[in-house]
Amino acid sequence: MTSPTAPQASWLDEIPARLADIERAHLLRRRRVVGPADGARLRVDGEPMLAFCSNDYLGLAGHPALAQAACEATQRFGVGSGGSPLVSGHSAANDALEHDLAAYVQLPRALYFYAGYATNTGINPALVGGGDALLSDALNHACLIDGARLSRATIHRYLHADLAALEAQLAACPARRKRVISDAVFSMDGDLIDIPALLALCERYDALLLLDDAHGFGVLGPQGRGSLAQAGLTGPNASHRVLYMATLGKAAGVAGAFVAGDAALIEWLLQKTRTYIFATAAPPCWQAPCAKAWS
Ligand SMILES: *Cc1c(COP(=O)(O)O)cnc(C)c1O
Repeated sequence: MTSPTAPQASWLDEIPARLADIERAHLLRRRRVVGPADGARLRVDGEPMLAFCSNDYLGLAGHPALAQAACEATQRFGVGSGGSPLVSGHSAANDALEHDLAAYVQLPRALYFYAGYATNTGINPALVGGGDALLSDALNHACLIDGARLSRATIHRYLHADLAALEAQLAACPARRKRVISDAVFSMDGDLIDIPALLALCERYDALLLLDDAHGFGVLGPQGRGSLAQAGLTGPNASHRVLYMATLGKAAGVAGAFVAGDAALIEWLLQKTRTYIFATAAPPCWQAPCAKAWS
């Protein structure tokens, strides 16, 4: 017979103390309850404020024309998509949005997702895996980093925007499948990466470039077509080795995201991206306000 032992304290009982540690270090994150968006003005906890922190760059999130388009689309299509895109959730609205997005960013094909976070965590593992290499800017967005980790590829982090360091890593990298991942406009400092120089390195070392333009799409380039268009690398100058990703929850003021590029690469992503295949498609009522954003 074993003697009864004293019950051990559960690790779950430590959570309040661990939260208190975070608060003592002044690192506790707090949400503010924000009222209806009206361009640069927000109501925060009921108080009117001028916003310098919002991603609603063009004030479209609260724009009456987009709200009206969303209402009409909701009346017509309902609220939810009802399924994963590969089963029953790929609506005519979302199909049209993909065609519009591809045309807008002047790339052959686009795949529309319900969120940018899910786009990047999904498309990294869909294209590279164990034995492959991912070269990642040190200041990349969290979802690029998480996607890189999920892929099980070897991650080589280079100093922010240091293309000489990146080139040294590419030259030394023995993996056949190499992928460079970078924000186009970096979230924290707002600086732009030199896209033509980055692409030239990818060409020299046969790497694929994933460019996250969450902060450039809708804002930079002719008619807001994004950083890649600003760099002159779309339309007839588009490269088959660039995957261009952007979100529709920032300048476009709605929600969702997309990845665009070479038609075969996009087809591959449709076949292999787990965050696309095993998740409910974006609601069809988001398409109309998105289309309104650039019309
Ligand atoms: C906001 C952001 C994302 C995530 O997009 P969501 O649609 O909000 O999930 C991805 N990458 C960058 C650089 C971002 O700033």
